Amino acid sequence: MLQDPKFISPPLLEIKGLRASFRGSNGYGEAVRGIDLTLQPGKVLGIVGESGSGKSVSMMALLQLLPAGSLVTGSAKFGGRELVGMAPGDIRRIRGKQIGVIFQDPLTAFNPVLTIGEQIAEAIRLHDASVSRKQGLERAEHLLDSVAIPQPRRRVSQYPHEFSGGMRQRAMIAMAIANSPQLLIADEPTTALDVTVQAQILDLLQRLREELGIGLVLITHDLGVVAGSADEIAVMYGGRIVERGQVEDIFYRTRHPYTRGLLRAMPNIEDDGENLTPIEGTPPSIWARPGGCAFHPRCVNAQAICASDDPELRPAQATLSACHFADRLPQMLAPVLEMTP
Ligand code: SF4
Repeated sequence: MLQDPKFISPPLLEIKGLRASFRGSNGYGEAVRGIDLTLQPGKVLGIVGESGSGKSVSMMALLQLLPAGSLVTGSAKFGGRELVGMAPGDIRRIRGKQIGVIFQDPLTAFNPVLTIGEQIAEAIRLHDASVSRKQGLERAEHLLDSVAIPQPRRRVSQYPHEFSGGMRQRAMIAMAIANSPQLLIADEPTTALDVTVQAQILDLLQRLREELGIGLVLITHDLGVVAGSADEIAVMYGGRIVERGQVEDIFYRTRHPYTRGLLRAMPNIEDDGENLTPIEGTPPSIWARPGGCAFHPRCVNAQAICASDDPELRPAQATLSACHFADRLPQMLAPVLEMTP
């Protein structure tokens, strides 16, 4: 039975043909080469790839956080509003209010000479002038409590250097949710943390998603980070999405050699890491990207056509894959993971 269009919720984020380029001494280098993505309210999208794949640049592009002189084209609609080309005053009102951002390194994101409480209060007052400083500090204390920071009354008047790495990341999350955003973009939120704290931060993000109904974009180089948290995964390489699918299909029915390489490079909970197989070679620079499929110099399945023709992203069994040989890749068993679908 067809669903009544009135009851189909519109996407929270809808990206079509997004491109982003940086200006260099010899012209522009394309870091994001036409990506399409959709995120529904309350869902989690994992964007995965090695550094330089374009995953962070694509999100910073739609938030207009790229360096001056960068070129962004295509479309990125947030709740139906076009972000690409939006006036700076309008995007500033959306950033930090309707869209919260969590960065990898909270120490550099926080101002070292202001207390954590003052910074969270300021983030609230920036978007709501009716909130007094005292009210802002009270809300900051409540927010620190909601992200499970012990003794929030004492912590609210401490400085960033007085927090541990995990605590700072929690405080950064508290600041990102201070204005009740509909969307959170978390850029490598757990990279600098040890495994136990990493799991706690991922649990916290998951809880916030469930309790507050926030949509979450989780950017990471580590497939393990999104295994238990994402609904859908987009794998990026060389500025393009090379595979996209539901989390279980990416892990158990991948149809792209690059995703297979990332899976093989993941620690397996059944061994001690001895069987890890890193992908040989390094990702291409935006200034010297190979022609054809950008992955071909590193791909164990590459054939002659791979060096000349760039494959389109198209359906290949359970996922969308940009590989000429997606339908012919042998079955691969995914690493054993603790997945909590
Ligand atoms: Fe490898 Fe060719 Fe597929 Fe690219 S198109 S991933 S080089 S097999």
